[in-house]
Amino acid sequence: LFIEYAQNEKVVVISQVAASLVHEVRNPLTAVKGFLKLIRESSLERDKVNRYIDICVSEMERTEYILSEYLSISKPLTDHQESTDLSNLLKITVEVMRPYANMNNVALEGQIPEGRIWILANPEKIKQILMNMIKNAIEACYDSTEGRVTLELAAVGGEAVLTIEDNGIGMTKDQIEKLGSVFFSTKARGTGLGLTFSYQAIQAIGGTVSLKSVHRGGTRFTITLPLHERAEAK
Ligand code: ADP
Ligand code: MG
Repeated sequence: LFIEYAQNEKVVVISQVAASLVHEVRNPLTAVKGFLKLIRESSLERDKVNRYIDICVSEMERTEYILSEYLSISKPLTDHQESTDLSNLLKITVEVMRPYANMNNVALEGQIPEGRIWILANPEKIKQILMNMIKNAIEACYDSTEGRVTLELAAVGGEAVLTIEDNGIGMTKDQIEKLGSVFFSTKARGTGLGLTFSYQAIQAIGGTVSLKSVHRGGTRFTITLPLHERAEAK
């Protein structure tokens, strides 16, 4: 039943960010169309043609990447765990959520370390948790003109510590108490399932969630997950 809830919630999240993806795909399409028209003018030097082609290819690769990650996130959840790099999962999720941030006029910034941060988890579930929480942070900024969501990840002691901070609407004490209970939502199109799923999935792998929120002053969620010792191939 839990997996079913999580799966339904994922479909809702995916459909809610779909509009921003459509937008994101249109930009490179327009750019590539423009360059193709330029390239067709036979008077162009070879160098210039090559440069335009490179830009087109990289624009198309970026779009392809976002779309394929988006599709992979929408696949049904499975129940398995593996040694997985949290740093990489966060990078992927940030790219998938960036169009949604752009559409909502929110700056999405991340301090994601270059090195790998291994945890033992189901990578699809982790991506879903990150997506839920980044989406909430973006949506919390609906009221502000300078919305900002900041992510920080570090390995501290034996733990991966991730903070997701926004300067959005914040929560009242009453709201904080209800947080994470099923169907609690303050949004017109909300499900109140995202955090319930996220909390349970984090706890299931030995992690913790804590938060600090100031009504009208923003919110910071801190997630910790146990690091996973991994025998690196030498
Ligand atoms: P939904 O987003 O569908 O409402 P969630 O379970 O993801 O459901 O979140 C539940 C509620 O928790 C939200 O409706 C909102 O009131 C509150 N919330 C979650 N994250 C934040 C945040 N970053 N800032 C302010 N409120 C938040
Ligand atoms: Mg949500």
